Amino acid sequence: MIVQKNYKKLNKMRIDICIVLIYIITFMSNPMLFSMPTENGEYQLFGPIYPNEIDIDPAIYRISEEELEKIKTKRILMKLTQCIEIFLHKNKEDSYELTKYTIFCMDEVESSIFIYLDYHDNPTTYYYKIISKNIDYEPDNGSIEKSLLLYESATFTTVYELLEHVKKVEITYKFLDYYLLSPEKMEEARTIRKFLPINTDKICSVCYEPTIEYTTCKHPICLKCRDKCIVQGKTTCPICRGSDLSVYPNSL
Ligand SMILES: [Zn+2]
Ligand SMILES: [Zn+2]
Repeated sequence: MIVQKNYKKLNKMRIDICIVLIYIITFMSNPMLFSMPTENGEYQLFGPIYPNEIDIDPAIYRISEEELEKIKTKRILMKLTQCIEIFLHKNKEDSYELTKYTIFCMDEVESSIFIYLDYHDNPTTYYYKIISKNIDYEPDNGSIEKSLLLYESATFTTVYELLEHVKKVEITYKFLDYYLLSPEKMEEARTIRKFLPINTDKICSVCYEPTIEYTTCKHPICLKCRDKCIVQGKTTCPICRGSDLSVYPNSL
């Protein structure tokens, strides 16, 4: 009886080993299964994010929902880090658009995020910029970047750290006019404005909050209201209709 049981076990093990071997041989003989074609037809050694790499079956792990979410977030961050590192290092690109396949709003303002690799630093460092999607500024002569810069990060030694920072900024930072501020900086700025208040004639023509920003025709409007108007298709100054809201003045 015992012999027969062991024999069955052994048989099952053999079948398992065979299945694993078949998998290995299939993948080794066809590396394309691991790869994704790029725009120029080349193949990269990374694929799409498969659900089983990120989703975890709660029945397997006896942990709380909260712990489960933490693991899931970590897995997403790790996978995304891998994708971005391969893109920047293997493709030798100097920037990666993090918002390429999604819609991103930074405190309600439609924005894009670009991650940059700094080859000049030793060791190599990464930084990122958040720019407005709908608003450009009047460029100085010879200026290359026309998009309105909303935020530029300090340098990070890993993409993972950088992505964690992006999440923190997305959740906690808010605009005060065109300044994107951390909660601490916001408190400082609001206290300064109480101490040195903005003149009452400088009131956003949409939300009636004091603002230091204005249109190219010199009518006050804050960044969030400017973006909201553009999104709603109202692209000219709400006071005089005399200027294009998507053009941000060169200097305030
Ligand atoms: Zn406003
Ligand atoms: Zn105007």
